[in-house]
Amino acid sequence: MKRPPLHRLLVGLAIAAAAVASVVPAVAMAESLVVYSARNEQLIKPVFDLYTKETGVDVKFTTADAAVLVTRLAAEGRNSPADILMTVDAGELWNAAERGLLKPVRSPVLERNVPKHLRDPHGRWFGFSQRARTIAYNPRKVDPKSLSTYEALADPAWKGRLCLRTSKKVYNQSLVAMMIKTLGEAQAERVVRGWVANLATDVFANDTALLEAIAAGQCDVGIVNTYYFGRIVRERPDFNARLFWANQGSGGVHVNISGAGVVATSRNSAAAQRFLEWLSEGKAQEFFAASNLEYPTNPRVAKDPLVVSWGPFQPSVINVVEAGRLQAAAVKLMDRAGYR
Ligand code: FE
Repeated sequence: MKRPPLHRLLVGLAIAAAAVASVVPAVAMAESLVVYSARNEQLIKPVFDLYTKETGVDVKFTTADAAVLVTRLAAEGRNSPADILMTVDAGELWNAAERGLLKPVRSPVLERNVPKHLRDPHGRWFGFSQRARTIAYNPRKVDPKSLSTYEALADPAWKGRLCLRTSKKVYNQSLVAMMIKTLGEAQAERVVRGWVANLATDVFANDTALLEAIAAGQCDVGIVNTYYFGRIVRERPDFNARLFWANQGSGGVHVNISGAGVVATSRNSAAAQRFLEWLSEGKAQEFFAASNLEYPTNPRVAKDPLVVSWGPFQPSVINVVEAGRLQAAAVKLMDRAGYR
């Protein structure tokens, strides 16, 4: 049977429609992102879910230690599926950037929302929450008037009274790196040697165990990230420990970041940048910090009420990039000083 011209036209249209239909999933596929995250799933999944809800962009993610993720990115090279690397420490982001694994981003939104000292000067990573590492003490044993700085915890007055987390944890490596930056290496080493001489007991595996030791009276003072304190007092408001803001008037409280950058080999870098911009303001920024009782990096965004209850403090405003630059020196210094 001979086809009438109209039928032929319809067949042609059907083919054209099918071609368009086959293009649609390809477009939808571009609207997805892959994140390698050292921030744990429990904290990060709700953020990704919110982004998908608001924008339709699907976010796939893998969580692991930053060192594992950076090694994996380097090994995958141009075949890496990752668009974004997210970590819980500036030193790790610095390291990834040094290895050429992150792409510089020029974004007026990120530059406006993230203070200068909490992002890479070359735009390869940005902080999305601040993590304050300060002094915690047992209020039954310590008059807060006797507290002042991280350095002062090296004073013999604290002999047998100080607890520290292991020097293997990057948080302490970053703290000591920043001390090298502000005090110089020789003075920083004297401080760390003093800390070691003052230890009440072996170093702790984590900040939570350290806080419990303070509350139990095993030691009088220690150095912790405030959100670990927050997680405990949220459940136990009468917990027997307090926070003290270190170095007020002398350099400020040591802050680190949880942050992210666009992977150098990402084929979705515009979409990755949009995600980071979204994370730097509004409800997303508020939630990113508050969900772990951290401080937003965007100063215009609200803090969690429990975090507000600890009062304001002056933070260090030295660029957190120094935590990376001086990390190797800090590790060697702590080793020389016998800080395990
Ligand atoms: Fe932590």
